[in-house]
Amino acid sequence: MNTVPMLDLKLEYEYMKEEIRAAIDRCLGHQRWIKGPEVSELEERISRYLGVKHCIGVASGTDALVIALRALAIKLTGNDYFSPGDEIITTPFTFVATGEAIIHAGATPVFVDIDPDTLNIDPGAIEDYIRDNSARVVGILPVHLYGQSCDMDAIMDIAGRHGLFVLEDAAQAIGCSWKGKRVAGIGDMGALSFFPSKNLGGFGDGGMVTTNNQELADLTRVLLQHGGKDKYYSERVGYNSRLDTLQAAVLLVKMNYLDEMNGRRRKVADLYNAELEGVEGVRTLKSLEESHSVYHQYTILVSDGRRDGLAEHLRDKGISTAVYYAAPLHMMGLFTGKMKVAGSLANTETASRQVISLPVEPLLQDEQVIQVAKEISSFLA
Ligand SMILES: *Cc1c(COP(=O)(O)O)cnc(C)c1O
Repeated sequence: MNTVPMLDLKLEYEYMKEEIRAAIDRCLGHQRWIKGPEVSELEERISRYLGVKHCIGVASGTDALVIALRALAIKLTGNDYFSPGDEIITTPFTFVATGEAIIHAGATPVFVDIDPDTLNIDPGAIEDYIRDNSARVVGILPVHLYGQSCDMDAIMDIAGRHGLFVLEDAAQAIGCSWKGKRVAGIGDMGALSFFPSKNLGGFGDGGMVTTNNQELADLTRVLLQHGGKDKYYSERVGYNSRLDTLQAAVLLVKMNYLDEMNGRRRKVADLYNAELEGVEGVRTLKSLEESHSVYHQYTILVSDGRRDGLAEHLRDKGISTAVYYAAPLHMMGLFTGKMKVAGSLANTETASRQVISLPVEPLLQDEQVIQVAKEISSFLA
């Protein structure tokens, strides 16, 4: 049977195999596994790519969020951590790490609803919450879900008027831009993930903190190595969270292909959009004109009650799918008693019942994309 995978990392490896093997060989030659030359080379490369002054490699995207928030806590409060009275507004429709990082940094996550058309955080809902609670809110943590930028004009405007920080969770969105400016470089800080399935994925965990602010960059570098400038004298509670040399070496090769691969993802998405237009029971997401999106996922909404049947039908036809995310954060036990929920999260709950992500492997053939779309329309007809 002709199978269509969500992602085919073996195929992508074959595509760039010689360069990757050579890069790994160079590491085997120099044996500088910790803070090797590839790490700073990658930091500089991504810095130029994003148009951000400081990029700092860390051990994962989750650590990038936690360490960025800790740096913000120290800069803004003078304490090592935020306190539970400090509130950070974010979306409940994201990977768990977004909300979990806020708790690790000592603050309280406030979940506000999403825009039903893009599934990104709704700036109107942020504004509504702040109107009544402005004294407690310290920052906003938007997530560029599935590789589409949030409405950064609206978010930066709200933050500016209320004196809030903005930390962009760009784990799914490297290469995406808002009005020509790359995400992770728009807010005060940004977080990237190099988890293998991300648009820029390593051969293990990795992540990066981004900022234009020197003080926040310095704090980040201190926190990621046990809270000390000097290896054997620590000032603060920190982490062992370096980006591995080996990961940086692989990622430097993959950077050569990032725009090409993101371009291929966009083509896959365009083809799905064309093929699925007018299919009964399917709603495609709205693409904001200002966002140059990189389709970490290609996600559609299916009428209530039909999603799981569709997933099963596609599986029977050899087509993989996934649901991001069936459990929104406000419904997870981990946040019980530790979060605030701002009003109705009805759009989030509808999305969690209706979303399904389709194969978006950049090296998919057009015929495979068309085959997936045909199976969807024949099942829902
Ligand atoms: C993947 C992801 C993270 C966490 O990244 P890791 O590298 O897996 O720790 C955080 N936020 C979002 C939205 C993600 O998709």
